[in-house]
Amino acid sequence: MLEVINLTKKYNKLEAAKNINFTINKGEIAVLVGPNGAGKSTTLKSIAGLLKYEGEIKICGKVNKSVEGKRLFGYVPELPSLYPLLTVEEHIHFMAKAYGIRNYDAKAEELLRTFDMFDKKEKLAQELSKGMQQKVSIICALITNPSVILFDEPMIGLDPKAIKELKNLISHLRNDGVSILISTHLLDSMEELWDRILIMKDGEIVISKSKSELNESNESLEDIFFEFTEKK
Ligand code: ADP
Ligand code: MG
Repeated sequence: MLEVINLTKKYNKLEAAKNINFTINKGEIAVLVGPNGAGKSTTLKSIAGLLKYEGEIKICGKVNKSVEGKRLFGYVPELPSLYPLLTVEEHIHFMAKAYGIRNYDAKAEELLRTFDMFDKKEKLAQELSKGMQQKVSIICALITNPSVILFDEPMIGLDPKAIKELKNLISHLRNDGVSILISTHLLDSMEELWDRILIMKDGEIVISKSKSELNESNESLEDIFFEFTEKK
């Protein structure tokens, strides 16, 4: 479970996130959508504990910046930040060791095969394309068996097969009870794969609706997106 309570992040005078509140329960997928500059990455980086902010963020009841909290979430940043001179395999070992995960070989192989990276496991990160780096970044986040996972624009740079596999994987994670937060500026990239939609604009969450609430009101996602993001 992920709880974000009164999150405000300022970069000097700019309020990039303004009093953000939301909860993602076990086995729920929330999609954070909004135009470029809305504050999506800022929100995810705050949850990942990478920024200073005001407010409270809890991962399964633990403060996100605590050691216990950090163990419980995975974060796939907008831009992969790998170690250029470590191989794909070494990245996985490094993550598993850092999180104290054992017996992960079978899972690592399965993930590598899912993303067509098994034959590239001995390649250095600096030899990989942007999309391949993105795949390694996803595998590293998943190898730690997180209870909460944050994906910042995960489809960018992936080929169509990898996008399909990632969506498949996300739906399995949901079934396993993981709380999932995905940011995207591409409204239709997540199709029906979400339980709650959070629309962000100018640092604020202007709309938060569950799928059933949206169905009841008979509005399409596109309708409400433009209604709230185009408003002056
Ligand atoms: P999104 O991910 O929705 O495109 P961001 O969270 O990256 O939006 O950015 C939100 C706002 O904060 C933008 O106006 C952006 O220019 C600003 N911003 C982001 N990162 C920084 C930073 N490190 N320093 C100053 N301003 C920033
Ligand atoms: Mg962003």
